[in-house]
Amino acid sequence: MTNRTYLQNIPVDIVTYTQALNRAMESIENNKNLQVVTINPEMITNAKRNPAFANVLNHAELIIADGVGIKIAMKLKGINQERIGGVDFSRSLIELCVRNNYRLALLGAKDEVMSALVSKLKSEYNDINIVFAHNGYFNNEEKILDDIKKAAPQVFLCALGSPKQEMFIYRLKEMLQGCTMVGVGGSFDVFAGYVKRAPKIWQKLGLEWLYRVIKQPERFKRIFPALPIFLFESIMDSVKK
Ligand code: UDP
Repeated sequence: MTNRTYLQNIPVDIVTYTQALNRAMESIENNKNLQVVTINPEMITNAKRNPAFANVLNHAELIIADGVGIKIAMKLKGINQERIGGVDFSRSLIELCVRNNYRLALLGAKDEVMSALVSKLKSEYNDINIVFAHNGYFNNEEKILDDIKKAAPQVFLCALGSPKQEMFIYRLKEMLQGCTMVGVGGSFDVFAGYVKRAPKIWQKLGLEWLYRVIKQPERFKRIFPALPIFLFESIMDSVKK
């Protein structure tokens, strides 16, 4: 088990990148399920208004700090937590699948993105074992759940955006065994080359979110005012201590 802290009543695990990846590998080897949430301030703000989502987060086995806002909030509590980017983490999980011949399932993003992603992964990794792949725009959720169950993946990457992806994984968790499941947001668009990641220097400075807002200005209303409110409340929490 890893150590946990709570940010505005939502759990966040205190783990290194390697520990998080090892947790995934151990769970698969021990035939246990592991729901991994890559959390950011927007999700914590949403959880406060959405009790069903808060419940899902409270039941996730591993919650890792994505986003510099989470890192800052943890720092205010005296915890030095490295940022674990969702895009990097899911790439590591794909490589883990290739190395160990784990069954991989992919759900989410537009149909053309999913097709491009599957072709790209197959050409990059000859032996990749993709047992399920479907775009993220569907009405027949029960059928999709059933098909994934039949495919019995050991790693499941779900890119439906938050909180949809976390809620979907929570339902699926009841139906699988020995699967590591991660909500990966816009990662498929990045992997398939449809969205460019911020240059390394922006990533290093923790400004990837700003780069994405500049590239997709409609994101602004998603992070504003959620981000400043989150930071303000984190400061208040640390003062109250
Ligand atoms: N998406 C989807 N089905 C939906 C809504 C969204 O598959 O009903 C996909 C969308 O195409 C994109 C991803 O979910 O690939 C969400 O990306 P976004 O950039 O919003 O996620 P973030 O990284 O900000 O969590």
